[in-house]
Amino acid sequence: MIDKKTVRDVDLHGKRVIMRVDFNVPLDGEKNITDDTRIRAALPTIEYLIEQETKLILMSHLGRPNGQIKPELRLSPVGYKLTELLGKEVIVCKDAIGEETSKIISGMQIGDVSILENLRFHKEEETNDPEFAKQLAGYADIYVNDAFGTAHRAHASTQGIAQFLPAYAGFLMEKEINFLGKLLYQPVQPYIAIIGGAKVSTKIGVLEKLIERVSVLIIGGGMCYTFLKAKGFEVGNSLVETDKVNFAFELIKKADEKKIKMLLPVDHIITDKIEDDARGRLCDTKAIPSQMIGVDIGPKTIRAFKKEIKEGKTILWNGPMGVFEIERFAKGTMQIAKALASSRGTTVVGGGDSVSAINQIGVADRITHVSTGGGASLEFLEGKELPGVTALIDR
Ligand code: ADP
Ligand code: MG
Repeated sequence: MIDKKTVRDVDLHGKRVIMRVDFNVPLDGEKNITDDTRIRAALPTIEYLIEQETKLILMSHLGRPNGQIKPELRLSPVGYKLTELLGKEVIVCKDAIGEETSKIISGMQIGDVSILENLRFHKEEETNDPEFAKQLAGYADIYVNDAFGTAHRAHASTQGIAQFLPAYAGFLMEKEINFLGKLLYQPVQPYIAIIGGAKVSTKIGVLEKLIERVSVLIIGGGMCYTFLKAKGFEVGNSLVETDKVNFAFELIKKADEKKIKMLLPVDHIITDKIEDDARGRLCDTKAIPSQMIGVDIGPKTIRAFKKEIKEGKTILWNGPMGVFEIERFAKGTMQIAKALASSRGTTVVGGGDSVSAINQIGVADRITHVSTGGGASLEFLEGKELPGVTALIDR
């Protein structure tokens, strides 16, 4: 297991604390935050640090400014939103480093909260420049990382800074490590994994790891057609990664050898074009016509998948079952989301699109753990070391 010290393990009273958060929120054209989930997710740690009478300096990236100042990617809207959510003025700095920022930071009182400007306005953030990391570290006595979503990147604010300050996990980071760690190291069986989404290639590492852990592996979404192809089915114009058919074949073989139940769709919604006004029709796996594209799982498949989900004590879901962005092709994804919500087992959902499906249907509060990290969650579940996690002090 990964066991890291958290903000509970250190005397914070009167200390200057610099905390990396993931405030990479979606903005509309008018710089309005369209979804503040990530800001809310960091509130428990922020509120705890305020209660502990610290001077709290927050830092985050926003979007991809690539080392340049992009006015539309300033963190000020986030600062205002946080002010609103905390009911307390958050000091917004106009730069992450520099003289003016230093002055603001040194003027902070106990209980004050400030936020540095978008870290990625400096290219040194992503190159993990030690000098830049040292400057950030210079503001504080203690470093906290609560940004699980960027923990798979070795950047100055996620990894470099921990060379200069004692580094602790925030509550969100702790929660992610605990839940995902349980899936990786000691899942309660039966452990059912449902993997979907567009491509096999982005999920290979996870599939290889899961096959060692699960008792049932369910494959849906676009990637199922590469697997069906490997089994010898004709899949028409459905999404197939030709260079991954062999991987799929080997995985099917491995599941067989290990007596792991592997479920693939037996029926589909097919269409001739993936467009908003496209019409779908039902079709069995063995009868997909040559010009048609599979865009969702069919009712027989939904029933079969639901039956397994019901039996699971641990259930992981990553990747939509169909092109859920188009309402007509969203049924499979929504039904699986509902099945997870009514499961009595431990349910974990990861992946940007799967999480957005869970939110769309409004069942997030009935899922045991909705992971905030897309790429980071996948890498964690692959068993990869995340630099931002490794950098924290071991318990
Ligand atoms: P997540 O973000 O949850 O990890 P992915 O990014 O892997 O999920 O996959 C999500 C995408 O997969 C969605 O945009 C969805 O439209 C697409 N997808 C799902 N099923 C199919 C399909 N049958 N054909 C093409 N694309 C699909
Ligand atoms: Mg995605």
